[in-house]
Amino acid sequence: MKDTTTYQITCPFCGATKLVVESNTPWYKTDAVLWSDGRVEYSDWCEPAKIQQCPSCKHFFVLPCMNERKKVLVHCDDTGNLPLESLKKAIVELSGNDDEAMCSRAEAWQTYNAMYRDVPEEDIPAEDREFNRSNMQWLLDYYRKETPNYSFITFELLRLLGYEDEYRKLLADMTFENYHQWRCERYKKRGVDYVPDEEISRLQYSRCVKDYSDALLLPLKPYVKS
Ligand SMILES: [Zn+2]
Repeated sequence: MKDTTTYQITCPFCGATKLVVESNTPWYKTDAVLWSDGRVEYSDWCEPAKIQQCPSCKHFFVLPCMNERKKVLVHCDDTGNLPLESLKKAIVELSGNDDEAMCSRAEAWQTYNAMYRDVPEEDIPAEDREFNRSNMQWLLDYYRKETPNYSFITFELLRLLGYEDEYRKLLADMTFENYHQWRCERYKKRGVDYVPDEEISRLQYSRCVKDYSDALLLPLKPYVKS
């Protein structure tokens, strides 16, 4: 049996409640795999979806933060994951707020990628392909607001959208000094009182350079990160 906690969350529109499940062990302490679009997969691990739909009023909302969730002693298997068609509706509904729109679009991107992972490009319905391309472009524009942005998501969006020149330029600009400074500033911007250790940054940096260079040779599908 999975080691999980059940949380009760509340719809911000009508106050209805729903239950969602989360693994007690963080994913990086399991044998989970991390995909290049940020999706984590492991059969014995789960977390609530970032975008939830209210069971009563059917509105979409972003998963409330930890201190707004209530632990309950009831068994639950539901993460609240939504199919692509529902996420497309969530994107429209949450478009007024950039951060909420980003959450719904990132979730839709990962769902699309998982759904069509083993499907050749030409067999994917044109409507979904077009949706995915404009969705990735929106996400890239969102991440580009932070300059530079050396996150693996930015690299992967550039790669999958075919912006190879910009990808190579970003990779060339990513010297160790720039990378370490970017990591330090990220924590500062989030208000986290933590200065990344330079040695750990160095190890991560070498891994990123190898990973991002190797990725240029891969097919234009998300890949499992090393
Ligand atoms: Zn509701």
